[in-house]
Amino acid sequence: MTKISDIKRIQVDLIELKPIKNQEEVYNSYNKYLAKYFNNSLPNEEFFEKINCPLCEQKNDSVLIKIDLFEYIRCNVCDTIYNNPRLKKEFLEKMYSEGEYENYVKNLTLPGDQIRKNITEVRKFDQLKSLFNFPGRVLDVGCGAGVFLTIAADNNWNCTGIELSKSGLNIAQKKGVNIKEGSFDNYHSNKKYNCITFWGVLEHVVNPIEQIKKAVSLLDENGVIIFEVPSADSLLMKYVIEHGLVPYRFIESARHLTFFSLKAIKMICEKQSLNLEYIESNGLDIQTVLLQEFDAEIINKIKNIQQLIDKNLFSDHYRVFLRK
Ligand SMILES: [Zn+2]
Repeated sequence: MTKISDIKRIQVDLIELKPIKNQEEVYNSYNKYLAKYFNNSLPNEEFFEKINCPLCEQKNDSVLIKIDLFEYIRCNVCDTIYNNPRLKKEFLEKMYSEGEYENYVKNLTLPGDQIRKNITEVRKFDQLKSLFNFPGRVLDVGCGAGVFLTIAADNNWNCTGIELSKSGLNIAQKKGVNIKEGSFDNYHSNKKYNCITFWGVLEHVVNPIEQIKKAVSLLDENGVIIFEVPSADSLLMKYVIEHGLVPYRFIESARHLTFFSLKAIKMICEKQSLNLEYIESNGLDIQTVLLQEFDAEIINKIKNIQQLIDKNLFSDHYRVFLRK
């Protein structure tokens, strides 16, 4: 059996995955959609609420950065960076049900679908598989178009997905994956899972700790929770803070609510009695900053530098494997 740390890294070209004009289109469309929640560039109190740190529940009010009218602060206790004040839950949910998310799927998910299916999602599944010596039951929360589950199903895993947005749901169901429509908060199951995955989900939800707790309760003995979240410790985040960059991807105002720090991840493990089995970072930090097309030679050098950043846990996303 391959050890998870031996699974080969992959190199992805951001522009190939998400063409610049598509990124720009989604960025502008969301900003236009979100404008109604502001008065004279300030959050309208009717729609926003002040919160404590979503990961450690402590209070800290110093503004760190302002991006597209949204304020982000850093928690001095656990280093999490989070949106505060943030849109109330009902308005956040509307964003996913009112069609803006469909625009995202059309512009940013579907164009890179083949790269995901053939490269990035295959590696995710290889990592999952390396932690078990049998095909088990996997629950993918926020499974989107079901690409990851399709691969797991092809490898004899028993697959269930939950998806909030209809557009993702329809695509996944066409692929024959067992998908339940709705939120994880309302999900009930009598069976336990060997693995529960949150790929790019916990940064979107108002209650990430509740979701992890729920996952723990649905896990079988020795089960594994896998989540991928944007990193508060990353090169890209440091660049955004120090140089005022407003990236089309990564921050995604109003959608990415929480940026996780390694300190917070370790705190979660301790509080939920989980073992940090493995952690890595993957990112597109440099291309996100440069956001430009280059010839192949330069792109290769960028990918090589990115891989060094990845290996040093300094990239824009953490991928975390927690064992019960
Ligand atoms: Zn905190």
